[in-house]
Amino acid sequence: MSTRTDIVYLNGEFLPMEQAKLSPMDRGFLFGDGIYEVIPSYSGQLVGFNGHMQRMQEGLTAIGIDFSAISLNWFEMVKRLIEENGRGNLGIYVHVSRGADVKRFHAFPVNIQPTVFAFAFEIPPEPVADKTKAKQFSVQTEQDTRWRHCDIKSTSLLGNVMHFQHGQEAGVDETLLYNEQQELTEASACNVFVVKAKTVITPPLDKQLLPGITRHILLDILRKHSTLTVEERAISMNEVRSADEVWLTSSSKEIVPVTKIDALPVGDGQIGDIWQQAQALFTQYKYEY
Ligand code: PLP
Repeated sequence: MSTRTDIVYLNGEFLPMEQAKLSPMDRGFLFGDGIYEVIPSYSGQLVGFNGHMQRMQEGLTAIGIDFSAISLNWFEMVKRLIEENGRGNLGIYVHVSRGADVKRFHAFPVNIQPTVFAFAFEIPPEPVADKTKAKQFSVQTEQDTRWRHCDIKSTSLLGNVMHFQHGQEAGVDETLLYNEQQELTEASACNVFVVKAKTVITPPLDKQLLPGITRHILLDILRKHSTLTVEERAISMNEVRSADEVWLTSSSKEIVPVTKIDALPVGDGQIGDIWQQAQALFTQYKYEY
């Protein structure tokens, strides 16, 4: 079956995208008051479904939306969306907003139903651990100007959008972000890893970055199935610039090699051997998550 992406889920119904209608008073629209997830699926096989759902539940709890009050079999909904859209290489976007109120007032309204929306979009074919086929990313760097709850996967993404857009305007693929201490946080839509002398390092989880599901799966796989040293610790931008390899991770991209930062080569400017090893292991074990 060919991939199509026009059937969506909205508040209990599967319907064509153009028939899906929302109130303009929805707080997702007015305030960016919601939580979302993107779950990858290849030929009907999901990667990291439970981790994504757990993160969504934690995000909803953090912003005071009662996950348990939403009566929905999430797995069945996601599976059906994949079937309706042809089982190709799909990112499944799942979104819960606080719902539509009758007035615009900042405080959480009582007794409104959350809005649940999901759609499928096409993602690239499963990445393979082949240096000749991998896309090399060029990135720029910027001070992270986002809010202080970047651990919450909020639909309020204007900060991320601005950082990503600056990269587009500079002709690069992503923007690496650093805090006031000149330490790496993440990228505008990815987590970041660096490799130095066969040690794989990524910033520790705190409120400055999203607890990426790909990050979690990759760390677990490397610890279980490789002899590489793996560290979660603060990384200075000087370390980023002198790293042997730099990678980005996200659900729709898996592990992406970065070969240029601010127009300067990373390491020898080529895709690294450790990237190849990591992507091969990720490919081998990702469906166990
Ligand atoms: N960091 C940010 C800001 C993101 O938006 C994303 C994904 O969209 C990630 C990291 C990677 O998270 P995951 O691996 O769960 O897709």
